Amino acid sequence: MTNVKNRPYLIALTGGIASGKSTASHYLAKNYYLIDSDQIVANFYENPDFLSLLDREFATHDKIALRNLIFKQHDNLVKLNSLVHPLVKKEIEKLIVLHNSEKIIIIDIPLLFEIGWENNFDCNILISCSLNKQLTRLMQRNNLSLAEATRWLALQKPMKEKRKVADYIIHNNYSPAYLEHRLDTTIADIFKNLI
Ligand code: ADP
Repeated sequence: MTNVKNRPYLIALTGGIASGKSTASHYLAKNYYLIDSDQIVANFYENPDFLSLLDREFATHDKIALRNLIFKQHDNLVKLNSLVHPLVKKEIEKLIVLHNSEKIIIIDIPLLFEIGWENNFDCNILISCSLNKQLTRLMQRNNLSLAEATRWLALQKPMKEKRKVADYIIHNNYSPAYLEHRLDTTIADIFKNLI
């Protein structure tokens, strides 16, 4: 039993690339206050101070050029993450305080387990699917070849590792309606444990 009477219960929502996390997130946002880390990062790219920071560190702020740098050298990914993640964390903390009258806040964080942020939240939900589905969805959504999709996937912790540490797992191999049903039942389960 978790007593969260005087503050929102914080649920982190995560997944693997193209496993269906954003689809889940859009559905949940209809009923809950949801903080979208991807949107927070997208907003940074509209901020001239952030763009100058990228220019200083990488000699570019162009997203495609940055992606190429990351693929070329893993150190660049580590460096970019070390710049972006503290800023995202600060923004999430600010939004949680601003919405502290909510009963539940969902925080959509694609790289929750990669960054090791899972202990900052009351629980987490992993949107999972088979490797086959993940590759197929990624190739279709981003118009990638199998080799490219496999390379993108390799930048993340493998889904089977995420499954070992997740609190709640939703297997999104089936219809969108089934995903929505599982989201409803999972949140209902979580609710049962709240005072
Ligand atoms: P993520 O946010 O995890 O990267 P998305 O939610 O964008 O993944 O889903 C990846 C792709 O798969 C999208 O094109 C989405 O419409 C599709 N998709 C997600 N879940 C399902 C599902 N249950 N059935 C069919 N297509 C799905």
